[in-house]
Amino acid sequence: MIEFKHVFKEYDNNVIAANDFNITIKQGEFVYVVGPSGAGKSTFIKMMYREEMPTSGQIKINEFELEKIKNKEVPFLRRELGVVFQDFKLLPRLTVFENVAYAQQVIEKSPEEVKERVERVLELVGLTDKTTMFPNELSGGEQQRIAIARAIANKPRVLIADEPTGNLDPNTANDIMEIIERINKEGTTVVMATHNSSIVNERKHRVLEIDDGRIIRDQKRGGYKDES
Ligand code: ADP
Ligand code: ADP
Repeated sequence: MIEFKHVFKEYDNNVIAANDFNITIKQGEFVYVVGPSGAGKSTFIKMMYREEMPTSGQIKINEFELEKIKNKEVPFLRRELGVVFQDFKLLPRLTVFENVAYAQQVIEKSPEEVKERVERVLELVGLTDKTTMFPNELSGGEQQRIAIARAIANKPRVLIADEPTGNLDPNTANDIMEIIERINKEGTTVVMATHNSSIVNERKHRVLEIDDGRIIRDQKRGGYKDES
C-alpha cells in the first residue's frame, strides 16, 4: 500500500510542487497521474522512491515510513519499487542481458538464479532473442521493454512509470501498455504519470489529476479530462 498524508514539497526556489497530497493506493491498483507540464507529477513519483524528500507530511510505501528510514535503508525500499522512465535510462555499455542482470546483482543471488530470472523477465516482455545486443542497437519500444524487464526483475510490489510512452509512436506505446497492464494483472501496483490522453481514455483505470501542485481529481475509472 502507498499512503501520502498531508505531504507538502517546496523546492529551494519556493515552488510548491505538492500542496497537501492525501492519497491511498491499495496493492494491485492501477493509477494514472495526469496534469499539465509542471503540475507536480514527477515530484509525486520521485517522492515515492525517495529521489526527493517531502518538506513535510508522511509517506508510507508498504512497510516503509519514508520520513523514518535512514539513507542506508533506501536500497531496501527501492527493491520493492520498479521504476521506468520516458528516456529508458539503460546503461549504454552493457548488453540487454547485463542491463537486466545488473539490478539483481545488488541483491545476494547466485549467477544461476540471476540468469534464470533475466531469461524469465525478457520472455515476459518478448525480447529473448536480443540478449547480446546493446541498447543503441534497439528501437525505442525495445529499449523500453528492456527497461520494464529490468524494473520487474526483482519482483517489485509496485511499478512506477514516469511518461513511459512519451518517446514512442502510438503502436509501440500500445505494446508497452499491454505489458504494463499484464504486470498489473499479476498483482503489481502500477503508478504511471502520462500525457497520453488516448491511452488514459482507452485503457480505463483510476485517474489522479494534479494541477499547480494540488490534486484536483481522483476518479475511479476516469478519462484524461474530467467529464463528470
Ligand atoms: P511535472 O512532472 O508535472 O511536469 P514536476 O514535478 O517536474 O512537474 O514539477 C513541478 C514544479 O516543481 C514545476 O514548477 C517545476 O519547475 C518545479 N521543480 C521540479 N523539480 C525542481 C527542482 N529540482 N528544483 C526546483 N524546482 C523544481
Ligand atoms: P515466480 O518466479 O514465482 O513464478 P513470477 O516470475 O511470476 O514469479 O513473478 C511474480 C512477480 O514478478 C510479481 O509479483 C511482479 O512483481 C513481477 N512481475 C511483473 N510483471 C510480471 C508479469 N507480467 N508476470 C509475472 N510476474 C510479473
